[in-house]
Amino acid sequence: MQIRRVGVALAAAGAMIAGLTACGGGEATTVLQKAKDEKKLVIGVKYDQPGLGLKKPDGTVEGFDVDVAKYIAGKMGVPESGIEFKEARSANRESFLKQGQVDMVIATYSITEARKPQVTFSGPYYLAHQDSLIRADDSSITSLETLKGKKVCQVSGSNSWKNITEGTNKQNLKVEATLVPAGGYDECIAKLKSGAVDVVTTDDTILAGFAKREGSSVKVAAAPFTDEKYGVGLKKGDLETCNEVNKIIGEMWSDGTAAKLLEKHFAGTGLKMETAAPPAEGCA
Ligand code: GLU
Repeated sequence: MQIRRVGVALAAAGAMIAGLTACGGGEATTVLQKAKDEKKLVIGVKYDQPGLGLKKPDGTVEGFDVDVAKYIAGKMGVPESGIEFKEARSANRESFLKQGQVDMVIATYSITEARKPQVTFSGPYYLAHQDSLIRADDSSITSLETLKGKKVCQVSGSNSWKNITEGTNKQNLKVEATLVPAGGYDECIAKLKSGAVDVVTTDDTILAGFAKREGSSVKVAAAPFTDEKYGVGLKKGDLETCNEVNKIIGEMWSDGTAAKLLEKHFAGTGLKMETAAPPAEGCA
């Protein structure tokens, strides 16, 4: 009897707590709910990657990921004026989501097994491939194998350097390279030009943007060795929003927007653009 009463009391307390999180202080429980109620979203994007997410001197941000963010937000009922962009660097994407500093991350964010326990991913909305950017006069880097012994730029929080040294590439090849730490890809490009690194190896999308900006001083090796499934990062467990964003990504490809945005940001960069939606993954 005693135990049963305690059980009933606990259940009642649990229901109260659930009720509070659902309605307390008008706080939304999911990002989708917040978008609908407040018509506002905070979205983490890159600030230093031309073509994807780049902050301009006037304070605005532009790029493929930024436009994808605007499209998704729009379909969730949030106008452009309701979006607050925040700089997501490779290293703070998970913590931004966990701590609720952003509602979603759209920042060249690969869906990986290592990240899945920490993040709920919608998507993929694009399939990139890892390649290498080198100085124009370098003929020694032509494939994954030839990165052996080279000074490779290592962006903190990125998956790209792990794909080389830990063997998460199509050849399952662990390459012994010397890793040179950097905070972001813009810093890597400066290091490449100064000779502090021999190669910047990451997604072909990122490299294409920099290759266009840097002109004839650098070149892409054009020897891709991974598939990078770009996902929309959400707080772990927000499945309602995840499913809605997946629907919106499907529309973005079927109504021609994805192709248009790729063309807008990557025409003339040398990027071999994907022309079809990547196979959808479920929300978890
Ligand atoms: N897409 C890769 C990743 O998520 C590399 C680019 C980046 O660090 O943003 O790790």
